[in-house]
Amino acid sequence: KCRDSQEHYSFYSQEIHQRMSRKLNLENRLRVALEKDQFVLFYQPKVDSKTGELTGVEALLRWEDPERGLVAPGEFIPLLEETGLIVEVGNWVIGRAVADYRDWRARGIGIPMVAVNVSPRQLRDKHFVDLIGHAVDEVGEGHLELEITESVLMEDTEGSIKTLGILRELGAKVAIDDFGTGYSSLSYLSRMPVTALKIDQSFVFSMTKGPNDLAIVTSIISLAHSMNLMVIAEGVETEEQARLLRLLRCDQMQGYLYGRPNRSVPLPSR
Ligand code: C2E
Ligand code: CA
Ligand code: CA
Ligand code: CA
Repeated sequence: KCRDSQEHYSFYSQEIHQRMSRKLNLENRLRVALEKDQFVLFYQPKVDSKTGELTGVEALLRWEDPERGLVAPGEFIPLLEETGLIVEVGNWVIGRAVADYRDWRARGIGIPMVAVNVSPRQLRDKHFVDLIGHAVDEVGEGHLELEITESVLMEDTEGSIKTLGILRELGAKVAIDDFGTGYSSLSYLSRMPVTALKIDQSFVFSMTKGPNDLAIVTSIISLAHSMNLMVIAEGVETEEQARLLRLLRCDQMQGYLYGRPNRSVPLPSR
């Protein structure tokens, strides 16, 4: 009996050991990725619901791993967050997005806005405000949008209100990402100096399946409009979803129906 439990013990400790070394290995490879410039940005279009015109693009991070090829952010962002490396990678993302935006403009491609995702660690970093100030200088006021998830803003409401206020004064736009999943307190929401709400794709997906999620989408849109905020739906994949969202007066749409995240910028329709 004693031997048996020892074997169990060593089995588990081996597994934990393996998991830890895999993690350490990934962490090291992510550091190399940063040094060797293996990260790339993909851009996904956002369009005006009524006219179908391009209103902006969202930068989405990918890792071009020499071993595995293109890796989606879900597989490495949690570890970047955990190790704090996200601050450096996030800075890279902002720099890259700003440089790309200026390049499009120089080539005559007019895109109203470029959006980047901001992680919690980045938002709390003491250099973040300065970084955004410089970025806005490069692209011009009103052309850079920061997407911040609802849960992050609600974690530290007073701090968020203050920081977002400064970012807005600098000329950045701020959208609350994954809206509807983070249990916003409505009284805080009205005090958050944001410009847009992004309806989480899970609601867009289930809105056509039953009355409850449709009710959620309907109320997010009217809530946004009553607070003078722009509202955008993400994960729009079907005509049926788009039709319904237009009917509900959703301002903008983003999703595979309009374009997948792509290495090159969506050219204005010829
Ligand atoms: P998110 O900001 O909510 O981005 C939306 C995700 O939905 C993206 O996944 C996008 O490719 C995907 N998507 C877009 N349209 C559709 C659609 O019609 N159907 C479906 N099923 N999916 C769609 P992606 O690119 O894998 O990014 C996942 C998450 O990783 C993002 O969620 C964001 O939270 C995070 N992320 C991506 N890039 C960055 C970054 O540069 N910095 C930080 N901090 N996070 C990032
Ligand atoms: Ca986003
Ligand atoms: Ca989202
Ligand atoms: Ca998300």
